[in-house]
This record gives sequence, C-alpha cells and structure tokens, in this order.
Amino acid sequence: MNLLKGKTTIVTGAARGIGKSIAICFAKEGSNIAFTDLVIDDNARITTEEIKLLGVNVKCYTSDASDFKSTHKIIDKIIYDFNHIDILINNAGITSDNLIIRMTEEQWDSVINTNLKSVFNFTHALIPKMIKQKSGSIINISSVVGVHGNAGQVNYSASKAGIVGLTKSIAKEIGSRGVRANVIAPGFIFTKMTDQLSEKMKTDWLKQIPLRRAGIPDDIANVALFLASDLSSYITGQVIQVDGGINT
Ligand code: NDP
Repeated sequence: MNLLKGKTTIVTGAARGIGKSIAICFAKEGSNIAFTDLVIDDNARITTEEIKLLGVNVKCYTSDASDFKSTHKIIDKIIYDFNHIDILINNAGITSDNLIIRMTEEQWDSVINTNLKSVFNFTHALIPKMIKQKSGSIINISSVVGVHGNAGQVNYSASKAGIVGLTKSIAKEIGSRGVRANVIAPGFIFTKMTDQLSEKMKTDWLKQIPLRRAGIPDDIANVALFLASDLSSYITGQVIQVDGGINT
C-alpha cells in the first residue's frame, strides 16, 4: 500500500521487540528509518540489514534515550542525515519491578528516566522542527498498567501514566500546528521484556485476556501504522489499548 512512502520515522530502542516490529512494518510501507539503541550490538546490526533489504534508507544511532543533552545531538545528526523527520515513535523502555516497600531510589529513577524522561527528551528536541514543517505524528508507547496500575510496578506504572499526561498535553499544545500525538497502551506482548516474568505471572496474565492469547509485536506495529499515516489524520490526544480486551 505504501502508506508512508517518502516519510522518515525515528523509533527509539528498536533493535528488538516492539520497536523492531514497528520499524520493519513502517519500512514495508515506504518509510526511511532512523532508529536508536543503547549500544549497537548484533540485534541492531541484524535489524539494520533486514530494513535495508526492504529498499529504504536506514541508520542506527547509539543513544541513551534518558539523556537530555545527547538526545538533542542525536536529533541534529538524524536531521542532517535524513533531511526531515515526519514520525517519532517513543518506544524505548525498561522494567525494574518491586513492591513499593522494597523499591530502591535507583529502581525508581532508572525506570522514570528511561521510560518517561526519554519521551520528553525526544519530543522536546524534535517538536520545533515538526512545528516548522507544520506536520508530524508522535506515537508514544505506554502500557495498560499506566492506565490501570499494577502491584509490583509502581515505577513502571507511574512512568507509563506520565506518558499519557504528557501526550494529551502536547496534543493540545501543537494540534493547531498540524502535529498529532497519540499513545498506544499495549497489554501483554511476547518480547524479551515479558520473557523475564515468572511462568505463574504469564499464566495469570493469559487467564485475564478475553481474546485468550498474548499479543505479538506486530499487533502493536499495525496500530502504530494507522496512527502514523493519514488514515488517522483527525485523531490526536488518544490512548489506544492494544491488549486483547484485558480488564486490569
Ligand atoms: P524489549 O526489552 O524487547 O526492548 C526494549 C528496547 O528498548 C531494547 O531495544 C532496548 O535496548 C531499548 N532501550 C532500553 N533502554 C534504553 C535507553 N535508555 N535508550 C535507548 N534504548 C533503550 O521491550 P519491548 O519491545 O517489549 O518493549 C517496547 C516498549 O513497549 C517499552 O516501552 C515497553 O515498556 C512497552 N510495553 C511492552 C509490553 C510488553 O508486554 N512487551 C507491554 C506494554 C508496554 P537494548 O537492546 O540495548 O537493551
């Protein structure tokens, strides 16, 4: 269909998992891809090669998304390399779970900085350019636990709830400039992140899902494609749960 022909997309943390699936889906629709990874490892190299085979321009940048100053430098580099950016996917994220009584300050800070400050960093660095070009779509990856909460994940839930507030606010600030911002809140998706969960936790999650299966990264990529493309040109400030109907 080529829904994104000639566009350029930044995806943070896209060497594997959901970010990789979004990058590949968008490349299949004609978008050039600039993606970031903490360290350029085999995953990043493989993802780069897979995207290259789809016939678009692709480059991976080493970046710690939680770092404000270096994010601004990375955005400048990406704009120099690709000329313009149309779509930003804030995907990079981590977990560091604990009950609040056992949670350390380091666990709190690392999750808030990687999951929430990173969204501020990339959006802050890129938004002046999107406003100038009077177009752009920003998609932030939150989580159903940011909407409903989850025992053992106060840091993660707070970071993901913060993304919802941030996105709804920027949608109001920049809608008049032609820039849209939306949230995807995935449920339980099979990736390395959920692989770390105990078998009991996985079974408990699965029991709660009306569609009776875990999600796969492509379930998220398909919704991201809709939100990035002109198919959703009258949608901004929304949170779309992609969770098999889970009621947490
Ligand atoms: P993965 O752990 O598979 O992938 C996360 C990616 O983020 C990795 O490529 C990782 O890089 C990168 N990353 C981590 N920290 C940073 C950082 N500081 N700067 C740049 N990149 C970083 O996770 P998923 O694909 O499952 O998750 C993707 C997003 O979806 C996350 O925001 C997550 O919270 C969210 N999500 C996932 C759900 C799920 O069930 N899987 C459910 C709800 C939300 P590296 O390879 O170098 O570690």
